[in-house]
Amino acid sequence: MYAVSLRCVRCGFELPLEAFYRCPDCGGILDVKYDYGSIERDIDPDEFLSRGGGVWVYWELLPLADRSNIISLGEGGTPLQRSTRLSKRLGLRELYLKNETVNPSGSFKDRPMSVAISKALEFGFKRIILASSGNAAASASAYAAKAGLECVIYVPDGTPREKVLQAVIHGAEVKVVKGTYSEAFESALIDSERFGWFNVTSTYLNPYTLEGDKTIAYELYRDLGGRVPRWVIVPVGAGPLLAGVWKGFWELMSLGLVNEIPSMVGVQADGCSPIVRAFVEGRNEVEAWVNPKTIASAIADPLKGYTQDGTRTVNIIRESGGFAVSCSDNEIIDAVKALARYEGLFAEFSAAASIAALSKGLEEGLIERDDLTVCLITGHGLKTVEMAAELLKG
Ligand SMILES: [Zn+2]
Repeated sequence: MYAVSLRCVRCGFELPLEAFYRCPDCGGILDVKYDYGSIERDIDPDEFLSRGGGVWVYWELLPLADRSNIISLGEGGTPLQRSTRLSKRLGLRELYLKNETVNPSGSFKDRPMSVAISKALEFGFKRIILASSGNAAASASAYAAKAGLECVIYVPDGTPREKVLQAVIHGAEVKVVKGTYSEAFESALIDSERFGWFNVTSTYLNPYTLEGDKTIAYELYRDLGGRVPRWVIVPVGAGPLLAGVWKGFWELMSLGLVNEIPSMVGVQADGCSPIVRAFVEGRNEVEAWVNPKTIASAIADPLKGYTQDGTRTVNIIRESGGFAVSCSDNEIIDAVKALARYEGLFAEFSAAASIAALSKGLEEGLIERDDLTVCLITGHGLKTVEMAAELLKG
């Protein structure tokens, strides 16, 4: 294994690769660190660029000691769709849609969950626990079923029924919490500490989950023939997906495969946008959001009790030269319709937010027509079909 330690992103404290969630010294976020010198020596860049077949083909850059512990349902390796009709309407020369809706449980969360559940197995846990706004619940429960692990999930009471059904059908114990995602987060944290269950909550809490997210960067690099996008637009709740894609490109640069990193764009909904607010106001620290209200439930994370997660995301957005932007529910609904009618993709509300953000970025002159741009389409529209049936008619 080329992974060597868990490293605190705030103070640099290093820990062994075990079931840790926060820095014992300062409480900061932990990040998996690798021996990049050895990886660079051992991989052939041309061979790396030619790899296909999903998350685990990049095993050197994943934190698993024994590959017999891999729990896979065929996650990753998703299509990079060249936009034709939508890009023309938007006036953009080269737009690509990373279609994460075709992952086994219908969202990008299968990448982080495949890694986290494989780690649970490797650590010898019998039970996992997590907080979720729905997609991670659907995903974790499927991977836990495949691994033969018990799965307990806390979800907020506004979670789409389709996603809860996915978790229930895979045999998970789903507990509905009154309140927001942050209340679910706290409940899962308390239980995990009390009972010693492996917490796979995929904010930045479980450091192994982000390692699955970052494989999107390797696939973009491959499918763009080694080119680096000018912009990658990502719907964000706490933002580990954005951080993961950024880390993936940062690693490609560390390995000498690319010379630059894309500028990262984080998109939230107007009704819950703590990260955007901090970015726009030029603040370094993110503050929790009060009373989230949006149809984009998968990115409605008020960050109450773990605002450092949002701060981490804002820092990465700034460091990459990107920006954060929020969109109204109506703009998101228009984006769902546009993706469906011009590109043949049915995305859930949160997933289409990347298209709404692109429109805004173009209107405001932040993104230019010749900029190579990638939008992540994170989850399938059938996951929120009940709401869609009401909101998308006409
Ligand atoms: Zn620390």
